[in-house]
Amino acid sequence: MKTNKIVCVGRNYVQHIKELDNTVPSEPVLFIKPFSTICDMSAPISFNKRLGEVSHELELYLRIGKTLTQAPASEVQGAVSDIGLALDLTLRDTQNTLKSQGQLWEKAKAFDKACPLSESIAYQREKIDLQNLELKLFKNDELQQQGNTSEMMHSCMALLKYISVYFTLYEGDIVLTGTPAGVGPLNTGDRLEAQLNQQNQPLIQVQTSVA
Ligand code: ZN
Repeated sequence: MKTNKIVCVGRNYVQHIKELDNTVPSEPVLFIKPFSTICDMSAPISFNKRLGEVSHELELYLRIGKTLTQAPASEVQGAVSDIGLALDLTLRDTQNTLKSQGQLWEKAKAFDKACPLSESIAYQREKIDLQNLELKLFKNDELQQQGNTSEMMHSCMALLKYISVYFTLYEGDIVLTGTPAGVGPLNTGDRLEAQLNQQNQPLIQVQTSVA
Protein backbone atom coordinates (compact mmCIF):
# COMPACT_ATOMS: atom_id res chain seq x y z
CA MET A 1 0.00 0.00 0.00
CA LYS A 2 2.05 2.90 -1.26
CA THR A 3 1.57 6.36 0.18
CA ASN A 4 1.23 8.88 -2.62
CA LYS A 5 0.57 11.90 -0.51
CA ILE A 6 -0.05 13.20 2.97
CA VAL A 7 -2.90 15.65 3.34
CA CYS A 8 -2.71 17.77 6.48
CA VAL A 9 -5.19 19.93 8.28
CA GLY A 10 -4.14 23.10 10.03
CA ARG A 11 -6.06 24.74 12.88
CA ASN A 12 -8.38 21.94 13.93
CA TYR A 13 -8.08 22.39 17.72
CA VAL A 14 -9.19 25.72 19.19
CA GLN A 15 -6.57 25.76 21.98
CA HIS A 16 -3.78 25.43 19.41
CA ILE A 17 -5.25 28.21 17.25
CA LYS A 18 -5.19 30.45 20.33
CA GLU A 19 -1.61 29.62 21.29
CA LEU A 20 -0.38 30.75 17.86
CA ASP A 21 -2.67 33.77 17.78
CA ASN A 22 -4.38 32.58 14.61
CA THR A 23 -7.98 33.18 13.63
CA VAL A 24 -10.53 30.35 13.67
CA PRO A 25 -11.13 29.40 10.02
CA SER A 26 -14.64 28.73 8.77
CA GLU A 27 -13.45 25.76 6.68
CA PRO A 28 -10.58 23.31 7.23
CA VAL A 29 -7.14 24.66 6.24
CA LEU A 30 -5.49 22.04 4.01
CA PHE A 31 -1.92 21.53 2.90
CA ILE A 32 0.10 18.63 1.50
CA LYS A 33 3.37 17.08 2.55
CA PRO A 34 5.19 15.18 -0.21
CA PHE A 35 6.43 11.60 0.03
CA SER A 36 9.95 12.88 0.80
CA THR A 37 8.76 14.07 4.23
CA ILE A 38 8.02 10.53 5.47
CA CYS A 39 10.39 8.94 7.97
CA ASP A 40 10.18 6.51 10.87
CA MET A 41 9.21 8.17 14.15
CA SER A 42 10.88 5.47 16.24
CA ALA A 43 14.30 6.11 14.66
CA PRO A 44 16.19 9.20 15.87
CA ILE A 45 14.52 12.18 14.24
CA SER A 46 16.88 14.11 11.99
CA PHE A 47 16.38 17.16 9.85
CA ASN A 48 18.47 19.92 8.37
CA LYS A 49 19.30 22.14 11.37
CA ARG A 50 20.40 24.98 9.12
CA LEU A 51 16.80 25.61 8.10
CA GLY A 52 15.95 27.12 11.49
CA GLU A 53 13.89 26.17 14.52
CA VAL A 54 11.75 23.08 14.07
CA SER A 55 8.57 22.76 16.10
CA HIS A 56 6.70 19.54 16.97
CA GLU A 57 3.01 19.00 16.29
CA LEU A 58 1.78 15.60 17.47
CA GLU A 59 -1.21 14.46 15.44
CA LEU A 60 -3.46 11.48 14.85
CA TYR A 61 -3.09 10.16 11.33
CA LEU A 62 -5.56 8.15 9.29
CA ARG A 63 -4.42 5.78 6.55
CA ILE A 64 -6.84 5.44 3.67
CA GLY A 65 -7.97 1.94 2.72
CA LYS A 66 -10.05 2.72 -0.34
CA THR A 67 -10.25 5.47 -2.93
CA LEU A 68 -12.35 8.50 -2.01
CA THR A 69 -13.43 11.04 -4.62
CA GLN A 70 -16.07 13.58 -3.67
CA ALA A 71 -17.23 10.99 -1.20
CA PRO A 72 -20.58 11.12 0.61
CA ALA A 73 -20.61 10.63 4.39
CA SER A 74 -21.75 7.02 3.97
CA GLU A 75 -18.61 6.23 1.98
CA VAL A 76 -15.97 7.81 4.22
CA GLN A 77 -17.10 5.70 7.19
CA GLY A 78 -15.44 2.58 5.84
CA ALA A 79 -12.43 4.21 4.21
CA VAL A 80 -9.91 4.24 7.07
CA SER A 81 -7.72 1.15 7.27
CA ASP A 82 -5.21 2.14 9.93
CA ILE A 83 -4.43 4.89 12.40
CA GLY A 84 -1.20 6.10 13.91
CA LEU A 85 0.75 9.04 15.29
CA ALA A 86 2.57 11.63 13.22
CA LEU A 87 4.81 14.55 13.99
CA ASP A 88 3.93 17.41 11.66
CA LEU A 89 7.35 19.06 11.90
CA THR A 90 7.19 22.77 11.17
CA LEU A 91 9.81 25.46 10.60
CA ARG A 92 7.96 27.93 12.79
CA ASP A 93 10.07 31.03 12.09
CA THR A 94 9.93 30.35 8.36
CA GLN A 95 6.18 29.83 8.57
CA ASN A 96 5.67 33.10 10.44
CA THR A 97 7.77 34.99 7.89
CA LEU A 98 5.93 33.42 4.96
CA LYS A 99 2.56 34.13 6.59
CA SER A 100 3.44 37.77 7.24
CA GLN A 101 4.44 38.13 3.58
CA GLY A 102 1.20 36.51 2.43
CA GLN A 103 3.10 33.58 0.92
CA LEU A 104 2.42 29.84 0.97
CA TRP A 105 3.78 27.73 3.87
CA GLU A 106 5.29 25.00 1.71
CA LYS A 107 8.90 25.38 2.81
CA ALA A 108 7.87 25.40 6.48
CA LYS A 109 5.89 22.17 6.24
CA ALA A 110 7.21 20.14 3.31
CA PHE A 111 10.96 20.04 3.90
CA ASP A 112 12.76 16.67 3.91
CA LYS A 113 11.80 14.33 6.78
CA ALA A 114 9.14 16.71 8.06
CA CYS A 115 6.71 13.88 8.76
CA PRO A 116 7.92 11.17 11.16
CA LEU A 117 5.24 8.46 11.38
CA SER A 118 4.67 5.78 14.00
CA GLU A 119 3.71 2.26 13.04
CA SER A 120 0.00 2.05 12.51
CA ILE A 121 -2.65 -0.12 14.10
CA ALA A 122 -5.69 -1.49 12.32
CA TYR A 123 -8.75 0.67 12.67
CA GLN A 124 -11.76 -1.29 13.81
CA ARG A 125 -14.84 0.83 14.13
CA GLU A 126 -16.36 -1.24 16.94
CA LYS A 127 -13.22 -0.98 19.07
CA ILE A 128 -11.79 2.46 18.40
CA ASP A 129 -13.68 5.74 18.81
CA LEU A 130 -11.78 8.17 16.57
CA GLN A 131 -13.33 11.12 18.37
CA ASN A 132 -12.30 10.07 21.86
CA LEU A 133 -8.58 9.41 21.65
CA GLU A 134 -6.01 11.11 23.83
CA LEU A 135 -2.75 12.42 22.38
CA LYS A 136 0.25 13.06 24.61
CA LEU A 137 3.79 14.14 23.85
CA PHE A 138 6.47 14.15 26.54
CA LYS A 139 9.72 15.98 25.91
CA ASN A 140 12.56 15.06 28.26
CA ASP A 141 9.94 13.52 30.61
CA GLU A 142 7.82 16.66 30.73
CA LEU A 143 4.31 16.66 29.33
CA GLN A 144 4.45 19.05 26.40
CA GLN A 145 1.34 18.36 24.34
CA GLN A 146 -1.96 16.94 25.46
CA GLY A 147 -5.32 16.87 23.76
CA ASN A 148 -8.27 14.71 22.94
CA THR A 149 -9.69 14.14 19.49
CA SER A 150 -13.11 15.04 20.97
CA GLU A 151 -11.80 18.65 20.84
CA MET A 152 -11.43 18.64 17.04
CA MET A 153 -13.44 21.32 15.27
CA HIS A 154 -13.90 19.04 12.25
CA SER A 155 -14.21 15.32 13.00
CA CYS A 156 -12.08 12.75 11.18
CA MET A 157 -14.98 11.73 8.95
CA ALA A 158 -15.95 15.34 8.20
CA LEU A 159 -12.32 15.99 7.21
CA LEU A 160 -12.18 13.02 4.83
CA LYS A 161 -15.42 14.10 3.19
CA TYR A 162 -14.14 17.67 2.84
CA ILE A 163 -10.67 16.68 1.58
CA SER A 164 -12.08 14.30 -1.04
CA VAL A 165 -13.94 17.18 -2.67
CA TYR A 166 -10.56 18.67 -3.64
CA PHE A 167 -8.09 15.77 -3.63
CA THR A 168 -8.86 12.16 -4.48
CA LEU A 169 -7.54 10.06 -1.61
CA TYR A 170 -6.02 6.79 -2.75
CA GLU A 171 -5.39 3.61 -0.83
CA GLY A 172 -2.25 4.19 1.24
CA ASP A 173 -2.57 7.96 1.42
CA ILE A 174 -2.33 9.53 4.85
CA VAL A 175 -4.35 12.28 6.47
CA LEU A 176 -3.00 14.26 9.42
CA THR A 177 -5.86 15.58 11.52
CA GLY A 178 -4.34 18.64 13.21
CA THR A 179 -2.43 19.32 16.39
CA PRO A 180 -3.64 20.02 19.90
CA ALA A 181 -1.96 22.80 21.91
CA GLY A 182 1.52 22.64 23.39
CA VAL A 183 3.67 22.88 20.28
CA GLY A 184 7.30 23.82 20.85
CA PRO A 185 10.85 23.58 19.52
CA LEU A 186 12.92 20.41 19.12
CA ASN A 187 16.59 20.40 19.98
CA THR A 188 19.38 17.89 19.44
CA GLY A 189 19.37 15.34 22.24
CA ASP A 190 15.71 15.81 23.21
CA ARG A 191 14.04 12.59 24.28
CA LEU A 192 10.45 12.22 23.14
CA GLU A 193 7.61 9.91 24.06
CA ALA A 194 4.42 10.05 22.00
CA GLN A 195 1.25 8.32 23.14
CA LEU A 196 -2.14 7.57 21.69
CA ASN A 197 -4.53 6.39 24.38
CA GLN A 198 -8.13 5.30 24.51
CA GLN A 199 -9.72 5.64 27.94
CA ASN A 200 -6.29 5.49 29.58
CA GLN A 201 -5.36 2.34 27.67
CA PRO A 202 -2.32 2.84 25.44
CA LEU A 203 -2.96 2.07 21.76
CA ILE A 204 0.38 3.36 20.50
CA GLN A 205 3.50 4.40 22.36
CA VAL A 206 6.68 5.60 20.66
CA GLN A 207 9.96 6.53 22.28
CA THR A 208 12.43 8.41 20.18
CA SER A 209 14.99 11.18 20.25
CA VAL A 210 16.20 14.11 18.19
CA ALA A 211 19.47 13.38 16.38
ZN1 ZN B 1 -0.11 20.23 12.01
